Amino acid sequence: MLELARAHYRCTGCGDCCRGWDVPLEPGEAAAFTNFATPLISAERLRGALGRSRQAGIDVDTLAGAAGQCAALNDDQTCAIHAAHGGKAKPRACQIFPFTFVATPAGVRVGLSFACPAVVDEEGPLLDAQRGEIEALFAIAVDGTRYLLRVGDEVEIGEGRTASYAQAEPLFDELAAALERDGRLVERVCRAGALAALLQARLGEQIPFARALDAARGGVEALVGEALGEPAEVDRLSRALFRTLLKSTEPGRAGAMGRMGGALASLFGSGEVRLRGARPDAAPIAVPWKDVERVTPGLGADGEALYARWMGDSLRALTFFGDAAFGLSLAGGLDLKVLSLAVAAFLARAYAAARGAPVVALDDCKRALRQLDAGITHRASMPAGFGRALAATASLDLLREQLGDRS
Ligand code: SF4
Repeated sequence: MLELARAHYRCTGCGDCCRGWDVPLEPGEAAAFTNFATPLISAERLRGALGRSRQAGIDVDTLAGAAGQCAALNDDQTCAIHAAHGGKAKPRACQIFPFTFVATPAGVRVGLSFACPAVVDEEGPLLDAQRGEIEALFAIAVDGTRYLLRVGDEVEIGEGRTASYAQAEPLFDELAAALERDGRLVERVCRAGALAALLQARLGEQIPFARALDAARGGVEALVGEALGEPAEVDRLSRALFRTLLKSTEPGRAGAMGRMGGALASLFGSGEVRLRGARPDAAPIAVPWKDVERVTPGLGADGEALYARWMGDSLRALTFFGDAAFGLSLAGGLDLKVLSLAVAAFLARAYAAARGAPVVALDDCKRALRQLDAGITHRASMPAGFGRALAATASLDLLREQLGDRS
C-alpha cells in the first residue's frame, strides 16, 4: 500500500525537467535512448546527447542536459521519444520524476519534488485521486529498482543515537506538524530542530526513547525562545558552506561540488549569483552579489508558507535523511533542510535583484525554490566530510539573516 503525500500534481508539459541537469541512466538505457532517438532527432542534436558522470563513486551514463536541455526535447516542449513510443520507452528517471518513493517497514511513502513547477503551483488533483496511475508507475518503474529509496528498521537520530522505525514514526509526523503550524517560518523550523536536538541529548543520557521524546517535547518552547532571543551569529566557515551550496544550485553545473577544500575557496567567490533564465531557452542570468544584498531580506507571508510546505512535505515523505539525503542522520538531514532554506531565501532575493525590485515577490520565491531543489536535493552525492561540516554550520542563524529575523 502506498502512502501518498497530501499534495496536488498534474504535469503541465512545461519541459522544465528536461533542462538544466544531467539525468542518470540505468545500464542499457543509453543504448535504448540512442536506438529510439536516432530516427527522430537530427545527428547534430544527437551529438553530445549522452554523457558520463560520477554518482556515489560510480561512473554512470547520463542524458546530458546540465548545460542546456535533453536532445529529445522538442521545440514545443514535448519529448520526442514519449511522443513516438509512449512514456514507458523513456529512461526510468524520466518516467518517475517528480515522484519520490521511500520504502519503510510500514509501507512506501510517496512524495513530490519541488524542482517541478506544477508541484510548486499545486496544479491538478490530489495524489489520492490519482492512486491507480501512481500504483501502476510504482509497479512498472520503481519497485525493485534503485529509485525505491529505503528507511530501514533502525533510524539514526544523530551522533550515533538510533531508534527503531516504530519508535521514530510518530517523531516524523511531529516534526512535519511543527512546520505546518501557524507562525513565522523561523519559529516553525526552530521548533522542529529543537525537538530533534533535545531528543538526541536525552538519548545520550541513556533515557529510553519514549521518555526521551516526552522530555524533549517539554523543553522545545524554552529552547526556541533561547535560540531566537539572541542575535544571529554566523562564522566564516558557515558562510563558506552556504556559498558552496549556493554554487551547486547554479544552472549549468553538472553536479560536482569538488572536495570540501572548495568550501574555503568559495569564501572568495566570483561576486556573482547565477540564476536560471526566465524563458526555457534563455541563458542563465548573473546578478552581482552586492545587488542581492540591497534587496530587503524576507520572503513575505506567502513565500514563508511555500517554503514551510516544501520542508514539511519532505519531512512527511522521508526524503530529508538517509538514502534520500546523502546518508545523513535525521538531525543532519534537518540541518541540511535549514541551510537549504537559507540558500533558497538568498536566491529569492537574487531573483528580485534581477528584476530590479527592492523586495522579494512570491514568484521570486518559487523560482528560487525550484533552482534550489534541482541543484541540491537531486544531487547524487556530497563530498566526504560534508556531514561534519554541516553539523558545525550555523544553519538557523544563516536562515534568520536571510529572513530578516532580528528578534
Ligand atoms: S517539470 Fe513537472 S510539469 Fe514540467 S514537464 Fe516536467 S513533470 Fe511536467
